[in-house]
Amino acid sequence: MFESLSERLETAFKQIKGQGQITELNVASTVKEIRRALVDADVNYKIAKEFTDKVKEKALGEKVLNAISPGQLMVKVVQDELAELMGGTEEGLDLKTSPTVILIAGLQGSGKTTFSGKLARFLKQNRHKSPLLVAADVYRPAAIDQLKVLGEQIGIPVYHEPDQKDPVLIARNALKEAKTKGHNVIIIDTAGRLAVDEAMMTEVADIKAAVAPQEVLFVVDAMTGQDAVNTAKAFNERLDFTGVVLTKLDGDTRGGAALSIKYTVEKPIKFISMGEKLDTLDVFYPERMAQRILG
Ligand code: GDP
Repeated sequence: MFESLSERLETAFKQIKGQGQITELNVASTVKEIRRALVDADVNYKIAKEFTDKVKEKALGEKVLNAISPGQLMVKVVQDELAELMGGTEEGLDLKTSPTVILIAGLQGSGKTTFSGKLARFLKQNRHKSPLLVAADVYRPAAIDQLKVLGEQIGIPVYHEPDQKDPVLIARNALKEAKTKGHNVIIIDTAGRLAVDEAMMTEVADIKAAVAPQEVLFVVDAMTGQDAVNTAKAFNERLDFTGVVLTKLDGDTRGGAALSIKYTVEKPIKFISMGEKLDTLDVFYPERMAQRILG
C-alpha cells in the first residue's frame, strides 16, 4: 500500500529539497504535485485541496522560510499533516466494562468474520482477555462454520444457535452466556449484504440497541477506495460507530480510504488488517503510517 503515493511525494520533494531557499513559487509547484499525488491515490479532490492549502500555509510560514534546510522542514510539515488527516494519535479500544461488548458491522466480503477472529486472538494474547465470539449471521450457515473454524484455531469459544433466526435474540443470549461463563469481552459478528440496504442497517441497529455495545467497529475493504468512504458514511449515519477497521491493506490499494475516512466520518481508524492469516492485524498508528508514506 502507498508505494505509488510514496514515490510521487518523493519526486515532488526532490526539487525543493535541493534548494537552499523556499519561495512562494517553488512551494506552489510542490504543493500542486502533492495534490495530484493524493488525488491519484484516490483521495477526494476537496480533501486533497484542503490538505495542500494547509501545507502551503505552513510551508510559507516564518519558521520554514528561515530554516537551514527548508526542504526537509517542508517534508516534516507534510508528514505531520498526513498523520493529522489519518487521525492524529492512535485510539485504543474501550475495554473498561466487563463484559465489553464489541459489535462488528460492514458489507459482506469486507472481512468481518476474519477480523472478528483476529480481534479475539489479539485481545486474548495482547490484552489477556477471555473473549467469546458470537455468530449472529443467521442467513449464511457458512459464515457460522467459518467463525467456528477460526475459534478452534485460536482456542476461543464461539456462541451460536443453529435454529435461531433472530440475531437480536442470539446477541442477547450470548451476552447472558458471557456473564455466566466469565468472558470479559464478547465480539458479535453480524450479517452483511453486498451493498448498503435498509434491512441490514435495521438489523444491526436493533442488535446495537439490544446489547448496548461499548465498541461498534465498522469493517471496510480498503481496496474499494472512495466507495469505502461512502459506505463508511452510510453506516455511520445509522450506527454511529466508534471506529473503523481497514482490511486488505496487503493488497494493491492506493491508500485513499486510509487517508480520507477519518476526515469524512470523524471516527478513528482503530485497526488495519493485512492478510488472511490470523496474526496479520495491527493497531493503527497514524503517525507511524505517515512516517511510512514519507519514508
Ligand atoms: P465477511 O463476509 O465480511 O465476514 O468477510 P470474510 O471475513 O469472510 O472475508 C472475505 C474474504 O476476504 C475471505 O476470503 C478472507 O480470507 C479475505 N480477507 C479478509 N481480510 C483480509 C485481509 O486483510 N487481506 C486479504 N488479502 N484478504 C482478507
